Amino acid sequence: MNLILLGPPGAGKGTQAQHLVETRGMIQLSTGDMLRAAKDSGTEMGRVVAEVMARGDLVTDEIVIGLIRERLQGETGGGVIFDGFPRTLAQADALEALLAEQGKTLDAVIELRVDDETLVRRIVGRAREAAAAGQPVRADDNEEAVRHRLMEYYKKTAPLIGYYHAKGLLVSVDGLGAIEEVRAAIAAVLDK
Ligand code: AMP
Repeated sequence: MNLILLGPPGAGKGTQAQHLVETRGMIQLSTGDMLRAAKDSGTEMGRVVAEVMARGDLVTDEIVIGLIRERLQGETGGGVIFDGFPRTLAQADALEALLAEQGKTLDAVIELRVDDETLVRRIVGRAREAAAAGQPVRADDNEEAVRHRLMEYYKKTAPLIGYYHAKGLLVSVDGLGAIEEVRAAIAAVLDK
């Protein structure tokens, strides 16, 4: 079972992916996590990526597709959860080609729906709590960057909703409920 979790920043993709890893032995491929690791690597690529991410812009398709290609060559036994990838139609096409090369298929795309004001409140609130506890805060978790990330989502990523709907793969889940409620809604889709 290979699955995409689609949705705007702060919709809960990472939280839900983590639970699926723990309960279903799937692996989570988060391009955001991979890029944050690249950013901290001290390379020239890392420096460029850091600037792009801090603004809330998307990193180039070439870089993220390269990261996913590398990771898909490894062991993916219990299935893959794509978290934060694909984010553009070019990435979606590349993913299809990469999966086909390996004889794999995409089984479902779950869209987590959450309204904008809730997203901004969630992300900025989480950043404030982290800062108050002396924990590191992401450079792109301030209100300005979050609103820019949302605009990038609507311009470049939201077209994937129609794309996967047309392929018969899309299921939309209400992402506004408690974490357990969203978990249950996702489980219902996967166990159908
Ligand atoms: P995330 O952790 O998924 O919220 O991603 C944080 C940031 O990493 C995004 O705002 C983008 O700058 C970058 N990023 C993550 N995934 C992608 C992707 N698939 N395509 C382009 N940029 C990405």
